Amino acid sequence: MPEHAVYCIDHPRAGDLSGADHLAGWLLCSKKIEAVELAAAPGSFTYGLSRPDVASTWELYPNAAQSGFRLELPAGSLGDGSGLDLVLVVAGGLGFRQRLRLRLDPSSNATQHALVHKRSPIGSFSPETLEDQLRACLEAKPGITFRLDIINKCNLRCIMCHYSDPDVFMRPAKKLTLDEFRDLFEDIAPSVRNVMLSCADEPLASNHFPDILRYLAGEHPRVNIAFCTNAMLMNARIRRLIVEHGVSDVYLSMDGVYKQTLERIRVGSKYQRIVANILALRDLKQAARSERPTVILNFVMMDCNIHEAPKFVELASRLGASLIDFRHLIANDYMDDRGQYLSEHKAKYNFFRARIAKAAKRCGIEVSLPSAFNTSESFDPTGLPEVDLGEFEAVSPDRAQGDLPVPRKTPKITSLRGTSADTFSETFCEMPFSEIMIAGQDRVQPCPFYQGELGRLSEGKTLSEIFYGPAFQRLRQNMLRPHGDAGCRGCPIKAKRLTEDVAGFGSARGKLRRLLK
Ligand code: SF4
Repeated sequence: MPEHAVYCIDHPRAGDLSGADHLAGWLLCSKKIEAVELAAAPGSFTYGLSRPDVASTWELYPNAAQSGFRLELPAGSLGDGSGLDLVLVVAGGLGFRQRLRLRLDPSSNATQHALVHKRSPIGSFSPETLEDQLRACLEAKPGITFRLDIINKCNLRCIMCHYSDPDVFMRPAKKLTLDEFRDLFEDIAPSVRNVMLSCADEPLASNHFPDILRYLAGEHPRVNIAFCTNAMLMNARIRRLIVEHGVSDVYLSMDGVYKQTLERIRVGSKYQRIVANILALRDLKQAARSERPTVILNFVMMDCNIHEAPKFVELASRLGASLIDFRHLIANDYMDDRGQYLSEHKAKYNFFRARIAKAAKRCGIEVSLPSAFNTSESFDPTGLPEVDLGEFEAVSPDRAQGDLPVPRKTPKITSLRGTSADTFSETFCEMPFSEIMIAGQDRVQPCPFYQGELGRLSEGKTLSEIFYGPAFQRLRQNMLRPHGDAGCRGCPIKAKRLTEDVAGFGSARGKLRRLLK
C-alpha cells in the first residue's frame, strides 16, 4: 500500500470556511508523524494533541492517541476552497526523516483518505513550458497509447452491456477499412507506443482486423498491439495471426467456471467454443515458443458468479493467463437487477475476495481485485455448492491449422521509463499526456472516463491537430491543478485519488499502468 494519510476536520463545519480563523481535527499517516508544517501559507500548526477517540478506531496507525491538531490562520484564507498544502515530517528507515506532501481538503467534515507524495503533486512543471516538455518527451520516446474501436458491432448481448439493447445490437455496421485506419494512424504513429484495437466493441467481428494487424506489425513493428475479445471468433486463422504478428496482450472476457453461468451472462456465447479457442491459443503460443501474447482474463463479478471466482483462478492458470482482472459490475442503464451488484452483498464479496486472493497465491497468478467493503457483517457459505472444473476439463483445444507460425522478432518498447506516462505521472493524471481514445469512431477523449470530448474526427482535423490543439492543451494545464479538470468528475481514478480508500486507488492506477505497459 502506498504511503497515505487519513484525516478529519472537526472545525469549521463544511460550507463555513470563508470566515474561519482556525482549523481543528485529527491527522494520521501510514508512517509515524514527527512534525507537521504548513507548506506555503501563513499560520501556525500545532500537532500532537490528545485524541483518545481516534486511538480507539485507528489503533493500527502510529500517533493515533496524539493525532489532534489545531491550525491558526488568517481569517478568510480558506475561502477559495483550493485546499491547504502540508508537509508531514515522518520517520523514514535507518533513522532518516522524510518530508511528505499532503493536500488537505477543508471543505468536508468526513474522514478523508489521501495519498502523500515525496514531491508536490504537480511535480516541477510550469504551465508556460508544459507543451514543449510534452513534445520533447514524445520525440525522445514514443509514449502514446491509442485506443479505438475498429467496428461498432458485437456478436454477443451480455446482460451488463449496451449490446443488450436491441437498438444498439441491430444498428448498422460501421467498420474502419485498412485505408481509413492508416489515414488516421500515420499522422500520430511516430509518437505511439501502444495500440488497443477495442474499447467497447468486438474487434474480431470486423473482416478488416487481419489487414489492420498485418499493417501495424509490418509497418510499425515497435508498437505494442492489444485488443479485448470474447474469444468466440478467435478461430485458428486469427490465433495464427496473433502469434505470428507478435500481438502483445489479449484481454479475454470470461466470467464463469460453468457453461450455464458464462452463457447466462454472455448472452449468445458458447462455453465450449470459448474455452477451446483459448486453450488452442495457449498451445499455439507454447508450440511456437512465443512469449506473446500475454493473456489477461476479465471477470465481471456479480452475485450470480462470485462463488465461482476462487475456482476460476485455477481455470485461468490452466488457460495460460498471466493476470485476472476481477471487476465489479459498474452501474449502467442496461443492468437494472440491483441484486447482482456486490455492493448489495458486501460480506459475501469480502468472503470470496479472501478466497480469490488465497487461490491466486496457490496458483501463482496475478490478480487485480477491488478492495474489501467496509462492513462488520459476516457471510455464511453454508448451502453453497462446491465448484469443480469438470465441465472445463471436458473441453479439448480447438484444432490447429497448418504449419506452426514463426513469431515476428521485432524490438518493442517495453519500459515505461521516460515515456510521457512516466514523465507526467506527478501531475493530477498522466492520461491527457499519454492517451488518445476515439469513442464511437469519432469523438476524441483522453480516456474512457472523461466526460466530454476534445475534438471530432468528423470535423476534418487530424489526430495530431486534436492532441496538440487547444482543448487537449487546456485539459493538460488543468492537470497541474490540485483538483484536475471538470470533465474528470465521476472518474474512478480521480474519486479514489481525492476521497476513497488508498488500496482501491492503488489497484485502479495499477490497472491503468498495465494497460499502458
Ligand atoms: S477522467 Fe480520470 S483518467 Fe481520464 S483524464 Fe481525468 S482523471 Fe485522468
